[in-house]
Amino acid sequence: MSVEDAEPPGSTTGVLAPPAEARELDSARWNQAKAQHPLSASESAVAVAPPPESIVPQSRISARSRAFRRRFYPEATNAEWCDWTWQVRNRITDLEGIERVLRLSDAECNALARPDHLLPAAITPYYMSLLDPDDAAQPLRRTIIPNEAELVRSPGEEGDPLGEDNQSPVECLVHRYPDRVLFLVTKFCSAYCRFCTRSRMVGHRAGPPYDTAQWEQALAYVARTRQVRDVLVSGGDPLTLSDERLDWLLARLRAIEHVEIIRLGTKTPAVLPQRITPALIRVLRKYHPLWMSLHFTHPDELTPEATLACTRLADAGIPLGSQTVLLAGVNDDVETMKRLMQGLMKVRVRPYYLYQCDPIPGSAHFRTPVETGLEIIQGLRGHTTGYAVPTYVIDAPGGGGKIPLLPAYFAGRDGTDVLLRNYQGKLFRYPDTAACDA
Ligand code: SF4
Repeated sequence: MSVEDAEPPGSTTGVLAPPAEARELDSARWNQAKAQHPLSASESAVAVAPPPESIVPQSRISARSRAFRRRFYPEATNAEWCDWTWQVRNRITDLEGIERVLRLSDAECNALARPDHLLPAAITPYYMSLLDPDDAAQPLRRTIIPNEAELVRSPGEEGDPLGEDNQSPVECLVHRYPDRVLFLVTKFCSAYCRFCTRSRMVGHRAGPPYDTAQWEQALAYVARTRQVRDVLVSGGDPLTLSDERLDWLLARLRAIEHVEIIRLGTKTPAVLPQRITPALIRVLRKYHPLWMSLHFTHPDELTPEATLACTRLADAGIPLGSQTVLLAGVNDDVETMKRLMQGLMKVRVRPYYLYQCDPIPGSAHFRTPVETGLEIIQGLRGHTTGYAVPTYVIDAPGGGGKIPLLPAYFAGRDGTDVLLRNYQGKLFRYPDTAACDA
């Protein structure tokens, strides 16, 4: 049976029974397996120095998570905790479950008590272990625990601020730019970010999951649209699909001749790092050139578990970029952003985009003035490694696409000279004689 004829395995809801591989190797066996790999330093032509031990964790469960598990999930074993399907099955989704762990503020409590909330709450036990039980203002907690500020709709806010529904030639696919498409393969995420641009369409309140017929329609569109050379697979979170379904989908995309690159957009390494199993890696590495955009928001997400997840992806030869949404009270200062960007570089993730928060309904408490984003870029550019400076963009409301914003480094002209301001605010001249000759 050809790849085209095959039915996608499993259900579109994403989570299957635990695959055997989900019970991963413990760290000692993993290290041993790595050492025996045909491309290990001892046998490969080019010896590759292992990453420093201080960066790559030696255990798949950090001391913090272990203590949390013992306290709140005493019946769960370490193996279960490290099994991504256990993490998904045990997501915390209601007031009662969240209250068991966190001392909730009135604003959080009121939001969780409202049944008409558009975006459901869901937090993996792992991500819950990173939250401060007493401080409702803790950055990670602000991003994941509902707050009654979300229930207030402010001027300019729209359910579909980027106009994706108007640029969707078939369901679950957005075609905005000439040579690439966005393929929304699932509405499911292991954790729901309170600032999600697609809050209108993710979570169980967004209707039934995409089915095979919808996927087939999207695949047929890509196959007949020859200018599409790049497919961004997103959602929801595509890494919540089973290995089998992901394998099927990637094989179908890779079989389309004009699709040069495939990209995956995911928050999984931050909220469910246990998902990055050796079995998943074996699937992904079959479909190079495969790129990934990882969604990180705050340096506190760069835990030993997330580090191991990124290390596995990078070791599989997948170029990793990060996308960060600028959020008030979370990462809206130079110091926090610098720590995040530098931390990402240490785990081999290249900061890619810093997004101005999209004006979805109930996002006013998250949005910063645009000047804040510009100040952050100014505080990074020249002050740290150029690779660690993302491009600050506004995704233009109505479907205009990403528009980059830069601080004012171009200070005008003086005769043939261009006046430039450097990272310290000092003025320099560039003799732009070519412009005068033209
Ligand atoms: S993981 Fe992505 S799609 Fe899912 S809720 Fe967060 S931002 Fe939205």
